Amino acid sequence: MIILTYLLYLLAAVLFILGLKLLSSPKTAQRGNMFGAMGMLLAVVVTLADQRILDFTYILAGLLFGGLIGVVMAKKVEMTSMPQMVGLLNGFGGGASALVAYSEYVRLGEGVSLASLDVMVTLVLSLLIGSLTLLGSLIASAKLHGMMRSAPILYPMQKQINALILLGILVLGGFFIADPGLWYFPIIIVALSVVLGVTSVIPIGGADMPVVISLMNSYSGLAGAMTGFVLSNNVLIIAGTLVGTSGLILTNIMCKAMNRSLANVLFAGVGADYKKEDQVKEERRVVRYTPEDAAFILESAQSVIIVPGYGLAVAQAQHVLQELARILTERGANVRYAIHPVAGRMPGHMNVLLAEANVPYDLLVEMDQINDDFQNTDVALIIGANDVVNPAARTKKESPLYGMPILNVDYARTIMVVKRSMSAGFAGEGNELFYDKKTMMVFGDAKAVVTNLVGLLKG
Ligand code: NDP
Repeated sequence: MIILTYLLYLLAAVLFILGLKLLSSPKTAQRGNMFGAMGMLLAVVVTLADQRILDFTYILAGLLFGGLIGVVMAKKVEMTSMPQMVGLLNGFGGGASALVAYSEYVRLGEGVSLASLDVMVTLVLSLLIGSLTLLGSLIASAKLHGMMRSAPILYPMQKQINALILLGILVLGGFFIADPGLWYFPIIIVALSVVLGVTSVIPIGGADMPVVISLMNSYSGLAGAMTGFVLSNNVLIIAGTLVGTSGLILTNIMCKAMNRSLANVLFAGVGADYKKEDQVKEERRVVRYTPEDAAFILESAQSVIIVPGYGLAVAQAQHVLQELARILTERGANVRYAIHPVAGRMPGHMNVLLAEANVPYDLLVEMDQINDDFQNTDVALIIGANDVVNPAARTKKESPLYGMPILNVDYARTIMVVKRSMSAGFAGEGNELFYDKKTMMVFGDAKAVVTNLVGLLKG
């Protein structure tokens, strides 16, 4: 039985690794997801059966009930709410790891004094990282959902307070490791970690949220791995480490995409003093163009780069946009999509959105690869994007976007912007691009405008 358990765990671990590998390309990502889910199902069933924790009736009932909740959530969630859901799931992962580690401590009871040093150290780390992840992710979700101000919330001596809480946790953890009989210490550690989750995430501003989401994702994995050590469960150690390390790689990619160091994101509170009221109120007017004007320009364009942003997801315009791209291609234009790494509200958001509309993957070009091509492009067609094309990122030192590489749409011969109003992007920064002489502002809901364009170009 033990050998069979190990073999099935090994199979689950192989499925996780294969799944992760397949997730690295949009072409194979769905299969990767399926492999990961199968690995997790296998790991859960084998653990429950092997440890004789539950009999099969309960396992089956749990699978059906949990699976049903998962299916309903996945079906019902709006594409625009996916980031919050990902945030919540990260938090639940962290919270579950901390709970399981704590319950192992309770289960050991009197025997805990015999627990080895590595079990005690990883128990403390699991409580710390898991509880911090739970609250940190809830705050990130609330910011994304608009339930909390997305701008940084700063308070006096922010860094010192966080450092002090962390130090307190580590000192308490040290005492607890030395004397595992101190039963109330884990509770204080959890309470302090929960506070740290809040105090460390509220000072991070909206524009830096991509890093928080990927960091929390990584923490949830690390908490799982720590709990795996507490339970001596290899498959949990492997799965947690895979999530933890891949999350760290993603965090690094997001930091690079925003040209900020992790320390700067976590501690600088970028954009805190930046209020919309501080921006100079200008009475300038933009020139409004109609979809007919836009269709006229697109008709003669030889090259078009489409820049999708969060507004595309809000409007659910990806399918009709794909139709527009197809028509333009049939008319002889070279059409590609420029993908900014932080476009949308979660890492990879635009890739997922466009894949859903069956946009061929080779037409999706990353920022670094396409940025030099804008200068030779007839039309940069911006659909519901704002921050990722905002030139303030290059020029305005006090802006929360300052330093972030942007898509060089302003180098194209014509800039076409489709959005509903003059309102700012997620970071709250107004956009000079809209006043550029080469810019055509076509106001309206992205789906309505693009549908209109499709009709005009077909007719
Ligand atoms: P932005 O949020 O900056 O701008 C989106 C624009 O879309 C808005 O200005 C809005 O203008 C427009 N819009 C909204 N709804 C519609 C609609 N129905 N039709 C047409 N336009 C619409 O998006 P970007 O993608 O450019 O930038 C992403 C921002 O989100 C960055 O600041 C990034 O840091 C942040 N972020 C990214 C995360 C990630 O992991 N990718 C996570 C968290 C935050 P209007 O209201 O006038 O229509």
